[in-house]
Order: sequence, then structure tokens, then C-alpha cells
Amino acid sequence: MAVALARTGHKMPLVGFGLWKVDKPTCADTVYNAIKAGYRLFDGAGDYGNEKEAGEGVRRALKEGIVERKDLFITSKLWNTFHAKEHVKKMARMQLDLWGLDYFDLFLVHFPIALKYVDPAERYPPEWWDAEKKFVTLQDTPMQETWGAMEELVDAGLAKNIGISNCQGSLICDILRYARIKPQVLQIELHPYLTQEPLVAFCKTIGLAITAYSSFGPASYVELNMDRAAPSLLAHDVVSTAASKHNKTPAQVLLRWATQRDIAVVPKSNDAKRLAQNLDCLSFELSEEDMKNISLLNCNLRLNDPADIDPRMAIFA
Ligand code: NAD
Repeated sequence: MAVALARTGHKMPLVGFGLWKVDKPTCADTVYNAIKAGYRLFDGAGDYGNEKEAGEGVRRALKEGIVERKDLFITSKLWNTFHAKEHVKKMARMQLDLWGLDYFDLFLVHFPIALKYVDPAERYPPEWWDAEKKFVTLQDTPMQETWGAMEELVDAGLAKNIGISNCQGSLICDILRYARIKPQVLQIELHPYLTQEPLVAFCKTIGLAITAYSSFGPASYVELNMDRAAPSLLAHDVVSTAASKHNKTPAQVLLRWATQRDIAVVPKSNDAKRLAQNLDCLSFELSEEDMKNISLLNCNLRLNDPADIDPRMAIFA
């Protein structure tokens, strides 16, 4: 199952594989095995530091004829230090080289935050800090400039589709005022503790497809000490009850809760069994009551907030 993207009609698979925190040494094998298991969409980013290894996995599968390039949907993201117009194409090219690919199916602006340029020859990925790795240094690049450069990636054939991530309604309204090529996908944190109904409704209205990240809520943030001590969603009664009813796992229920509303998901797992389980989350339907009860868990708990790193980056305030 897939979501048809506005403008190109390209089909973005509803279930993909997230590459954040997939270790470099295992990444190529993980990606290769995920392709063998049936994954076609990979959600990467310059910031994940594993694009070269992910690309190795993809190229191995292509070489062995397991898939053709046209059957894959590769997403990557522009990092915050590269928002100036002179850096966008350079970085897209560099990231494509790392993957060993000619084009991305989707390229996203990772955060609506512009940070001071860090030369990739000095440090890559630069994360949130400047060249001396001391400070978060903001840069005055407006989104209009970055978006114009993103549009040029489409013109040059480097990205088939372009989009945004971690943006809220008011910024999206602004982008729509000047966009020659409208954003086709918005990637946001979305799970039953952060249901984001108004943003989801707005995106539906304007035909902007949504990809949910961190579908399992706190699970991904425990290892980073960023889970805000929130109770596990995977062990939550409401989720487990729905899971037993359908003879599915809580993880599959959490993914289905999103995909049943045409919201794509990109779960991440390093475990072959879970990886297969996560892909197999479209073969059942949650009842309206299940959907409602799960949505009622909303408590606007946001786990991924750059304001935690520096209060000047309070993009969700
Ligand atoms: P996730 O919600 O996919 O959760 C991952 C955690 O859940 C891991 O600890 C994993 O071991 C566990 N898990 C996975 N499958 C499971 C299963 N079947 N049963 C039990 N536990 C399971 O986490 P995520 O990595 O935060 O999000 C997914 C992807 O979203 C990322 O890899 C990345 O591609 C993307 N993402 C994007 C942004 C952004 O700013 N755009 C931010 C975060 C993540």
C-alpha cells in the first residue's frame, strides 16, 4: 500500500524503514536484509551519519537483482547547517554520492532551523554545533531561500519529490505563498501521545502527505535518556487490548493506527523478527472504537524538541 504524492503521483510506500541510530558497522547488512524482507522505502538523512553504508546495502541488493532502482523509494534530508542557497545542491550531490545514487525519491528539509555552515571536510555530520563543536550558532537564512534551492533540486533531477519535516501550520502556510513546487511530504513526530489532529487535518486539506516518525513514542528515546519517563506505548493496556483482539503485536497496532489514516510510517529496528513484523502491519483493520481509544491517549507529549538543546530553537512553542 502506498500514498500517491501530489504533483508527481509517485507512490510513497505506507511502511518504510527508518535509518536513525542504525549503526555504521551493521547498516549495509541491515538495509540489504530489509530489502530482502520486502522493504522498499528507506528514510535516511545526512544527520544519521550512515548514508554511505545504507547505500552499500541498497547497491548490493540492486547488483544481485533483488530489486530495481525504480522499485525503491529513497528519502534523505538536508541538515540545518546547509540551508543557504549555495549549499543545498552541493549537499544533495554529496549525499547522493555517499548513497551511490543518481537521484533521491524524496528530499526533505530536516528542521526549519538554519545553523551556521560547517564544512563537511572538517566535520560530517556536524550535528547541532558549530565548527569548534562548542556552540549552537544560528544563521539568518529564511525558509524562502532554502525552499527555492530545494526546488532547483527537482529542476536538476536530483530529487523527484521535495518536502519538509518538523514544520507547523504557520510555516507551512508561509511556504505555500511562495512555493513554485509545493512541499509534497511533511514528516513529523506522531504517535498516540502526540496525535497532532489539527496539523493532520490541515495537511489533508492542502494535499500534503504525512510521514509519522517515532511511531512507538518513548521507545526510541529511552537509550538517549530523552523519554521523559513516559510509560511505554508498546506496553500500554489500550494498545495491548487492541493487539490481542487482532492477534497482532502492540507495535503492529501502533503502526496500523497511523497507516489506517493514510499516514506513512518509518519504524526502525535492528532485529530481523521485528523488522518483518513491522512491515506486516497492513493486513488488519482496527475498529473505529480501537482507533478512538488509542487516540484518546494523546497528552501532547513531544519527545524530539530542539528547544531541549537550545531554547532559541523552540520551533514548536
Ligand atoms: P521508532 O518509533 O521506530 O522506534 C524505534 C524503537 O522501537 C527501537 O528501540 C526499536 O528497538 C523498537 N522497536 C522497533 N520495532 C519494534 C517492535 N516490533 N516491537 C518492539 N519494539 C520495537 O523510532 P525512531 O527511530 O525514533 O523513528 C523512526 C524513524 O523516523 C527514524 O529511524 C528516522 O528515519 C525517522 N525520524 C525522523 C526524525 C525527523 O526529525 N524527521 C526524527 C526522528 C526519527
